[in-house]
Amino acid sequence: MKAIRGATTVLNDTAEDIKKGVSELLLTIKSKNAITENDIVCIMFSNTSDLRSYYPAKAAREAGFYYCPLYSSSEPEIDGSLPKCIRVMALAEIAAEPVHVYLKDAVKLRKDISGKLNIAIDGPAGSGKSTVSKILAARFGILYLDTGAMYRACALACVRKNIDCRDEKSVEKVISSVDIDVKYSDGAQKTYLDGKDVSEEIRTPSISMLASSVSAHRCVREKMVELQRTIASANSCVLDGRDIGTNVLPDAEYKFFLTAAPEIRAERRAKENAVKGIVQPFDEVLKEIITRDEQDKNREIAPLVKAYDAVEVDTGSMSAEEVAEYLAKKIQGGI
Ligand code: C5P
Repeated sequence: MKAIRGATTVLNDTAEDIKKGVSELLLTIKSKNAITENDIVCIMFSNTSDLRSYYPAKAAREAGFYYCPLYSSSEPEIDGSLPKCIRVMALAEIAAEPVHVYLKDAVKLRKDISGKLNIAIDGPAGSGKSTVSKILAARFGILYLDTGAMYRACALACVRKNIDCRDEKSVEKVISSVDIDVKYSDGAQKTYLDGKDVSEEIRTPSISMLASSVSAHRCVREKMVELQRTIASANSCVLDGRDIGTNVLPDAEYKFFLTAAPEIRAERRAKENAVKGIVQPFDEVLKEIITRDEQDKNREIAPLVKAYDAVEVDTGSMSAEEVAEYLAKKIQGGI
């Protein structure tokens, strides 16, 4: 006999949400472990004390799991516990190693045994990707991978060698000889070029433009995409970029495409620049944003385009917190 563990969270303390959450959790456990009704010996639930509207055991019975003993109990109120959470342990007569199932916000409870979660967030410059991605990554307790930073590091490598970023042959020479990597310090990404932290240096308007030129070359994209896939295959993470949902991780669990009018995006970028002490006339910022959009959309390899299965969100009239909340709800609701 094996013990299969699992948990999920629900949006609201309502009978409807609890029934939906329990049913999804148990059906996923059943399918991921390839078990039939006869294999299950018993199912035990516990739920956080903020869930009072329905017994998970009753929801399980109504979801069709009436052939085995069911039990549920309420957990004590504990500071900092995950809100509106239902935990389960099912004992089953199976030979294989159990597949534990953690859904919705509960993925962060047991990242060690729950499935990997990759969230792809694509869109043009200034659409809010990086701020939203950081909020989401913190919320789910997973990594944030800023893929643009890698292309920026490539551009910096070319600048340092005095290379024209549009000249593919010269760029290839530089890129094949440099080491670009990312590391995490207190959850924040640091980008390294040949072992040196260049996270700040790559945030200038001129590097933004050069990153767009350099990222159009196959040699650059192949090297960076390989690194991005390696990180994403080993970690649950939110990745932001231009081609995550279409090219880097076409099988990502969740995909979003953020947009906003160029003027709004330019305004956001100008404000970010001002905080960093970079003073640039608004018209220039807008022109750069438009040029970068054009370059990124019209390049031959992995252009900026919405994946057919990505959820598009116009962030023009929303704050980053509102966008993150909207995406989190979509993720919790299974899109
Ligand atoms: O997102 P960020 O503005 O830092 O990206 C800089 C540039 O890197 C983009 O304009 C784009 O040309 C390139 N990029 C890309 N693919 C990604 C991420 C960024 O081509 N996944």
